[in-house]
Parts: sequence; structure tokens; C-alpha cells
Amino acid sequence: MASKKLSLTSKIVIGMVAGIVLGLILQLTIAEQPWVQTFIIGGVFTVVGEIFISSLMMLVVPLVFVSLVLGTSALSDPAKLGRLGGKAIGLYLFTTAVAITIAIAAALIVRPGDGMNLTSDASFDAAEAPSFGQVLVDMVPRNPINAMAEGNMLQIIVFALLFGIALTLVGKPGERLKGFFEDFNVVIMKLVMLLMAVAPYGVFALMARLFADMGFATIGNLLKYFLLVFGVLIIHGLVTYPAMLKVLTGLNPLIFMRKMRNAQLFGFSTASSNATIPVTMETATGKLGVNNAVSSFTVPLGATINMDGTAIMQGVATVFIAQVYGVDLTLVDYLMVIATATLASVGTAGVPGVGLIMLAMVLQQVGLPVEGIALIIGVDRLLDMTRTAVNITGDCMVTTVIGKSEGQLDENVYNDPKADTKLA
Ligand code: ASP
Repeated sequence: MASKKLSLTSKIVIGMVAGIVLGLILQLTIAEQPWVQTFIIGGVFTVVGEIFISSLMMLVVPLVFVSLVLGTSALSDPAKLGRLGGKAIGLYLFTTAVAITIAIAAALIVRPGDGMNLTSDASFDAAEAPSFGQVLVDMVPRNPINAMAEGNMLQIIVFALLFGIALTLVGKPGERLKGFFEDFNVVIMKLVMLLMAVAPYGVFALMARLFADMGFATIGNLLKYFLLVFGVLIIHGLVTYPAMLKVLTGLNPLIFMRKMRNAQLFGFSTASSNATIPVTMETATGKLGVNNAVSSFTVPLGATINMDGTAIMQGVATVFIAQVYGVDLTLVDYLMVIATATLASVGTAGVPGVGLIMLAMVLQQVGLPVEGIALIIGVDRLLDMTRTAVNITGDCMVTTVIGKSEGQLDENVYNDPKADTKLA
């Protein structure tokens, strides 16, 4: 059968394109009819799409906990762990700062907000930015079960790290428990693969629902802003990351980009770095050859604290809103934007739309009207999808760099185009 030969990536792309086309056709024809809204868009598409996202999310907490306990126990040496953590956090913050700097520079050159009429009287409720001290306090779970129930990634990471360290310190009981965790991990990874096999249908449903309802008129009004964010995202994904990877590791970045495609498609269609964690982990270990000891830590950490794509949107949006409201920002303001956006991403989960909430914190920091967010909210979904794909690409790039620098990257796997064909 011809379909047997199609790779998973091709199938997901087909599902995605078919969903987009069907959604657009519905939008142009019968989407307004009540029965279509109830049974097709709000019915079948929503049910299938939501089940797909929920089943991805279902795997995140057990996968992160189990694989991170294993990863930590494999590294055991606290000095190694400390170095790994330092490198990961440093690189994540660095790539985010680079991303937002490029975005601000591009927005200052293109000036997307010039000539915009201020017609919106909508409002937007800003969330308070937590203090840095509070972010640190919040990282330690008072109740690890609660942390897991809430899917609080940083808290889960902290608990898993401590648990993994203790596991290596207790001899025999630790060995037995490790065997259990190893088996658990194999089973969860199997679940990830089974789920990936049905992904084309899930992606199809998500896209069809989204495009049947998407308001394109708003994009028309904000075309310059939209295209600018989109353009910088693409440049960051296709130029900055491959360049960083090449410079920092000497590895062939084309192989990296090719192997990232599946995870990027998942990120794009779910708009959630968190929901994509199972696929990102699988990509990092199975395809890119990074040892689980590194990726089990850097991937969930990245999904939470590393959001370069989000920072790009925030950089462009801040300049855009300042231009629309006729506010002149100083160099110090811009530095403040870079610092706030970079720090705001720490401790905010990678879920759809969270970038706008963080943007509110950034705007407040430099005294721009938070209502400005209402101007861009209408075009945010497509940008959210695109920036999530960039976010997870950044997670994997940093993971690969750290894997290589720690001697935890199997270059045979990295260079093997067929690595992990179980999934293809
Ligand atoms: N949806 C993004 C993510 O999960 C976050 C955002 O930019 O809203 O990575």
C-alpha cells in the first residue's frame, strides 16, 4: 500500500493541509449554519481536537517525572548536575535575549504601528508580575502530588531532581526503584509513539475547527504587525538557531532542521510547548541522539522557561503599541523590555496564549497602556502557533548544544537520517 510508505511527518502535513482547506471551505460556505456550528465545528472537530490535546497533556507529567528521575540518577554527581543546570538556564536566557533584541530592532526599522488608527476601546486585564524572589519560592512544591495535579512544571522538575539524587544515595532500594522507573519510562514512551501515530487525525480536526472560525479581516488591518512578527519568527527559526548550533557544536544544522519537523508540526498545531513535551523529548533523544540524562532535564525546563518565539512577539508588540499610542521609548526602556520579557517567561507555563499575559507585564513595566493588547489579540492565534514551533525548536537546539558539550550526544544517531524509524 502506498500509504504505508508515507512518513509520519508527511501524514501530519497532509492532515494539517486537509484540515486548513476544509476549514476554509466551510468558512466560505456553510460555517454560519447552526447545524454546522453544533455538529461539525463545535461537535466532531472540537471533540477530536480536544481529545488529541488532552491525550498529549496526559503523558506530560508522568513522562517528565519518570524520565527526569532516571536522568538525574544517571548523572548522580551533584557537580555535573549543577553545571548542566547552569548551562541550560544561561543558554535559555541568552537565546531569549537575542530573540527579543532582533525583534525590537526589526520593529524599530519597519515601524509597524505608524499610521494606525486607534479605534479600539477594548480593555485587557493585566496580571501582576511575580517578583523574582517569589518565582524562586514557588519553584519548591509544598505538595508534590499537588504540583503534578496542577502540572506545575518547575515544581515537578525540582521534586524529580531531588528524588533522583536521593535514589542514587540509597544503594539497593534505589537500584530496585530505578528498575521500576526504567520500565515505567519504556511504557510511557510506547504511549507517546502510539499517540503520535494518530496525530494526523488530531491535527486535521484542530486545523479544521480553527480555520472554519478564524477571523481574517483583523489580520488585514494588522498586516504589517502580523507579517513582521511572522518574518522575525521565521528568521530566528531558520537562521539564528542553525547558526548558533553550527558555531557552538560544529554539527550539521540541516540535519537538525530536518529532524525537528515533527515536533514543530505538533507545536504549531497545539500552540502549546507543554503539550508538545512528549514529542520534543522523543525528538531530542530518539532523533537527535541526546542522552536522556540531559534531555529529560533541558526539555521540560525549556518548555517552561524558554520562549524565544514568544519574546519575539513581545518585542514587536511593545514597539508596535508604543508607536500606535505615540509613546517614545528610551534605550533604557528597551533594555527594560528585554529584561522583563526574558524573566517573565520563567515560571510561565507553555500553554496557548500565555505570551499575551506576559506581554501585559512587559507593557506595565515601561508604562505603556495594557489595553494595547486588545489591538493585537485578534491576530494572535496564528502567531501563537508559529511562535510555539519556534519555542520548541529553541528547546531542542539548546538541548543539542548541551548534550554535545557534556559528551552526552550520540553523533551516530544525530547523523543517521533513519534514527528512530519506529516512528516514521
Ligand atoms: N503558546 C506558547 C507556548 O506554549 C506560549 C505563548 O507564546 O503564548 O510555547
